[in-house]
Amino acid sequence: MNILILGSGGREHALAWATLQNPKCDKLIVAPGNAGIAQIADCASLDIMDGGTVVTFCEENSIDFVIVGPEAPLAAGVADDLRGAGFLVFGPSAAAAQLEASKAFTKEICDAANAPTAAYAHCTNHADARAYVEKQGAPIVIKADGLAAGKGVIIAMTDAEAVAAVDEMFEGAFGDAGAEVVIEEFMEGEEASFFVLCDGENVLPIGTAQDHKRVGDGDTGPNTGGMGAYSPAPVLTDSIAEKALNEIISPTMAEMARRGTPYQGVLYAGLMIKDGQPRLVEYNVRFGDPECQVLMMRLGAQAFDLMHAAADGRLADTQVNWGDDHALTVVMAAKGYPGSYEKGTVIKGLDALPEDSKNMVFHAGTTLSDGAMTATGGRVLNVTARGDSLAEAQKRAYAMVDQIDWPEGFCRRDIGWRALD
Ligand code: ATP
Repeated sequence: MNILILGSGGREHALAWATLQNPKCDKLIVAPGNAGIAQIADCASLDIMDGGTVVTFCEENSIDFVIVGPEAPLAAGVADDLRGAGFLVFGPSAAAAQLEASKAFTKEICDAANAPTAAYAHCTNHADARAYVEKQGAPIVIKADGLAAGKGVIIAMTDAEAVAAVDEMFEGAFGDAGAEVVIEEFMEGEEASFFVLCDGENVLPIGTAQDHKRVGDGDTGPNTGGMGAYSPAPVLTDSIAEKALNEIISPTMAEMARRGTPYQGVLYAGLMIKDGQPRLVEYNVRFGDPECQVLMMRLGAQAFDLMHAAADGRLADTQVNWGDDHALTVVMAAKGYPGSYEKGTVIKGLDALPEDSKNMVFHAGTTLSDGAMTATGGRVLNVTARGDSLAEAQKRAYAMVDQIDWPEGFCRRDIGWRALD
């Protein structure tokens, strides 16, 4: 099969790495890819937000199957354009991608599906939003309705912060994404991520993970896109996972199908768990980054078969072969991230690292410049390892980190602490 993966981050490097292990893959192209991906697959420079361009590329390159990595092309309808042109695609339609693209939409679906989530108000004007936060009081969570790259959520611990957050959103701090807001009850508990595949009708769990959002050790400092992750997440026990499936995910999928917008692809449910009860924080319509890296490390070659079965409506007859293993990824970022940081610094020592089914460095933001591997982004490398225990996976990952020579980079030294404590 000729396969195209859309995206350019560590997530897409991991998807490419797993796909290449599957004998059904004859040819793999990643668009646009990055320097790490270019070491294992062909990369094509392509505007992945433009459905017409992607369709033409697929026709010209005899592509049989497309895997869409990030949410933006999904929300823009690229999967619809591809399916309209007869291509098999892993990823939801724009209508189904509303589960991530609009928080108000998701809350409304949760109401219809009776899925446990935070109490909320959907406010379309400043005065109503102000009145609601003044009535509810802090702590309270204020969210821009639309996609804001993980930055459109403000957790207000005082009444003054809550009012300021509402003012900021309606004054345009998040552009169109904040033209409407969702204001939510603050939920206490422990967060975990639950990943399932859906084929429009059937739901198949493919793993759990936890990430570390804060930049500093001990979960301190500002929020980031994620500084590391591990799988499985011990807090998501089998019984809690079953509850999440039966009370939240399956009813959501049934409601989407009932509305004539069935969901196909990976659904990533962010859950808040307290006293054995999961509640929905958010849905994402794609793999998490860096959670995808640990899931791919654990699933290996079967990941491709699973995604293909989801796209092809065959999940009812598909099973996951679980290993009793653990995976952990450490994000190496440019010093200064998530604030400003230097670009173009040289990373050495990568060639000497092992690359096998237990050790892999996925690239998130690199480019080759005059033969040298250089950092181009904030989050740059995802140093990922698998082991029989989480402690073993952690030890392996940090052993690789310690061999990487990149003075301008840094990482957290405690990824996995919560599960290891
Ligand atoms: P991201 O893409 O970074 O996950 P997002 O913009 O999609 O973020 P959410 O996932 O809804 O936004 O919220 C971001 C984070 O804020 C959550 O991971 C969680 O830690 C916290 N959060 C969101 N809603 C609540 C809530 N109601 N109660 C407590 N914490 C919350």
